[in-house]
Amino acid sequence: MMFSDFDKERDDRDDREKPSDPFDELKKHFGEIFGPTGSKFGFAFQPQEYSGHSDDDDDREKAANELIEKIKAFNLKPLEVRTFLDRFVIKQAEAKKVLAVAICDHYNHVRKCLLDEKISVAEYNKQNVLILGPTGVGKTYLIKNIAKLIGVPFVKVDATKFSETGYVGSDVDDMIRDLVKAADGNVKLAQYGIVFIDEIDKIAASSDAGGRDVSGRGVQINLLKLMEESDVNAYGQTDMIAQLRAAVSFANGKKNQKQSISTKHILFIASGAFDKLSDIVKSRIGANSIGFNFRSRGDDHDEAYEYLQKVSTADFIKYGFEPEFIGRLPVRVACEALKADDLRNILVSSEGSILKQYAEDFNGYGINFSMDDDAIAEVAKAAAEEKTGARGLLTVLERLLRDFKFELPSANVQSVRITKDTVDDPPKALASLIASASTGAQ
Ligand code: ADP
Repeated sequence: MMFSDFDKERDDRDDREKPSDPFDELKKHFGEIFGPTGSKFGFAFQPQEYSGHSDDDDDREKAANELIEKIKAFNLKPLEVRTFLDRFVIKQAEAKKVLAVAICDHYNHVRKCLLDEKISVAEYNKQNVLILGPTGVGKTYLIKNIAKLIGVPFVKVDATKFSETGYVGSDVDDMIRDLVKAADGNVKLAQYGIVFIDEIDKIAASSDAGGRDVSGRGVQINLLKLMEESDVNAYGQTDMIAQLRAAVSFANGKKNQKQSISTKHILFIASGAFDKLSDIVKSRIGANSIGFNFRSRGDDHDEAYEYLQKVSTADFIKYGFEPEFIGRLPVRVACEALKADDLRNILVSSEGSILKQYAEDFNGYGINFSMDDDAIAEVAKAAAEEKTGARGLLTVLERLLRDFKFELPSANVQSVRITKDTVDDPPKALASLIASASTGAQ
């Protein structure tokens, strides 16, 4: 019985005749958390064999099939991938290059397997990637844009939420099921997606590296099975609704079809700040080998980046990773910290610049928004002091423009130009803008 049929039949029956319904019991307890069947809210993913079939399902299936056809026709070259990334991501030249090659190799291999299922994958080493670098420098943004370019589903998870047993935190398999949600419920498409695991440094087993001891080791073991190749049940053990549906389906004589997700072609990208790793590299290769170059290039140089570029498997093991685990992440690259000038470039030339969003927000009220170059430079300088990478831009702009966004939509203002004076004293600039608007001087 389809789940929607089940709903209908349940409504048609007299409550007194009906044995108590486990779904109703759950809904009573959890209210709207689960949401209505097929709702965009709450329980969005409807495993295919239980959901009622609708035009929406057909549309979703059609869209997923189109994306799979796109992967079958994958023919991008590394240079094209890098050119695409350059439109959005500022700096990180090495990471762009390394990722472009890894992505092209991976999806060329996937294409071959899709076109000829008999191709042996046993000897193929997946190009899972490890990206090192401070927060807010574009590690996630790079991968998000790559997933967008290729048209594959993407999920980001924090390694810190996993527990070894899955009892306390999440089970590592949950992220694979999340990929199915990101693929709008299409298991086939999800199997070619990208999983981004952030804060991977936090599951290092060694406590002196800031890791979280032995349980981190257990999570590493669970993760490495997934990164290699395994089959994940589409219904989680703790997913009560899915389990109940399976039970109802079984009770109604429907064969309980197991639906599993193969991780064979899922690309895993792990990332982390790895704060103390550069010290380990430094003590291995000797401070002088790089230190001398730093001194000759001046204080401004990104010392941690230079050391992280030279990281070896032995350094990761010393940091607290299992050799088997780190071995499943063969492609490693470091991202650079962003300086004030880089942040200025992000505002001015990235297609994803937050300034565009501000302009659109003001535009929504019919207000034209612009910002002078020296004001942009000032914002970038303040953002660099936040030491949160490009996220600092958001913090500084939000602080600067908060009152403008609140007041201007109700004032008679057609345009707002942010100058260096505005950045120096936002309340004064806002007051004079509103005053000139009320006298019609705008
Ligand atoms: P992290 O390195 O911690 O993964 P993110 O990639 O999530 O950081 O960056 C947060 C946001 O900051 C991105 O969504 C993007 O808007 C912006 N950003 C970060 N780095 C860059 C960059 N190098 N170029 C352009 N925008 C960036």
